[in-house]
Amino acid sequence: QSVPLTNLQTRDISSVLHPYTPIHRLGEIGPLVIERGEGVFVYDTQGRDYIEGMSGLWCAGLGFGDEEMIDAATEQLRTLPYYHLFGAKGTESAIELAEKLKEIAPVPMSKVFFTSSGSEANDTQVKLAWYMNNAKGRPNKKKIISRMKAYHGVTVMSASLTGLPYNHIGWDLPVDRVLHTDCPHYYRFGQDGETEQEFLNRIVGSLRDLIEREGPDTIAAMIAEPIMGAGGVIIPPAGYYPAIQALLDEHDIIFISDEVITGFGRTGNWWGSQTVNMRPTTISTAKQLTAAYAPLGAVMVPEDIYQAYVDHSKQIGTFGHGFTYGGHPLGCALGVKAIEIYQKRDIIGHVRSVAPVFEARMKKLTDHPLVGEVRHCGLVGAVELVADKATKRSFDPKKGVGAQCAKFCEENGLIQRAIVDSIAFCPPMIITEAQLNELFDRFEKALAACEAWVSKEGLR
Ligand code: PLP
Repeated sequence: QSVPLTNLQTRDISSVLHPYTPIHRLGEIGPLVIERGEGVFVYDTQGRDYIEGMSGLWCAGLGFGDEEMIDAATEQLRTLPYYHLFGAKGTESAIELAEKLKEIAPVPMSKVFFTSSGSEANDTQVKLAWYMNNAKGRPNKKKIISRMKAYHGVTVMSASLTGLPYNHIGWDLPVDRVLHTDCPHYYRFGQDGETEQEFLNRIVGSLRDLIEREGPDTIAAMIAEPIMGAGGVIIPPAGYYPAIQALLDEHDIIFISDEVITGFGRTGNWWGSQTVNMRPTTISTAKQLTAAYAPLGAVMVPEDIYQAYVDHSKQIGTFGHGFTYGGHPLGCALGVKAIEIYQKRDIIGHVRSVAPVFEARMKKLTDHPLVGEVRHCGLVGAVELVADKATKRSFDPKKGVGAQCAKFCEENGLIQRAIVDSIAFCPPMIITEAQLNELFDRFEKALAACEAWVSKEGLR
């Protein structure tokens, strides 16, 4: 049934270019204009409540309207609303946040470079890897390995690292020097009759082949999200990271951990790399770094790598990289406050204590005729919808079953994200057990509506 558009919806359609949206159908699919948020809920302009099952874009880990965060923002804006770090300037908030990040880093880190976003952090990682190899007199060691279905952002380089079709098709990407290896998703990419261990051996072997084919002397780094987020919440088989790590070490290839989603407790540890047994050389972070109360990203590097930058700066005159808003005092003050809150309210302990409820409710969904696989770790997960459970056959992507399911979620007061036909879950880390149950109750209603729609439309 068509509902008349509100004034704000009409104004939105006439003036806003929406990211990641089938903009040719904008009027048909929304826009859903959100007016305010409180705790794990957001409210639209007509006062309808939604559980924010995605923490916005995997970022609002402390939910909405946290008074301590608001006070920290106000105080920082009063004291120093803006300053920068160029040309050896500094701010107390940037210093304090860099120190805190070093304190909680999963491996010893020496310096923190601030950006405004995750894309900029990953873009910076590539430039830093190149800069380092120029400093070390290895000008040909520049290629970066990423993975199919990875998501690393949207700048020209980070979109190149991303391994999803929509980030490449239409944009003349990926650029040269970027290589994509297998996605470690056994359910989807395991071959008939292949055990998980055989699958793991095969994809590690194919990475070895790639490195040998391209020449280890041409490869600077590999980048990986400990758990892939926007590619569909993909958790690699146990043993995957140690096996990869050995290959990279053998060939002096650095390992960049993209912790933009998995940082700050999301998987039940400070860092996703700790959860999946990955030992990063450098780290990118953003999103929950400030619990999304302000934009900020960061790159952490160890001392030996930092020393290479110093050498190169000496040779060429300066370290020529930086963003106007990298290390913005508002972002840094909120980063400091967010980490303080994660610590003093024991948010990681809370994630661990509600994760069994998340897991149990996820597992219960596997009985549903639409659900092929559920994946979960800490408080992040996905439900993959399939046309045929026995054969794992997917729906025709053109039918938009995932998007329709997300729409049914919305109608049931729940915001989830469809990644093709996987429905992602990433609720605010402060969610209570009762709210988690309410989230899944709403989701089950959406799933029932989706099943009825799939049957009615004959989409199997
Ligand atoms: N890396 C990962 C793992 C992400 O999930 C994202 C965003 O979703 C990015 C990088 C890009 O971050 P941003 O959107 O802040 O540029």
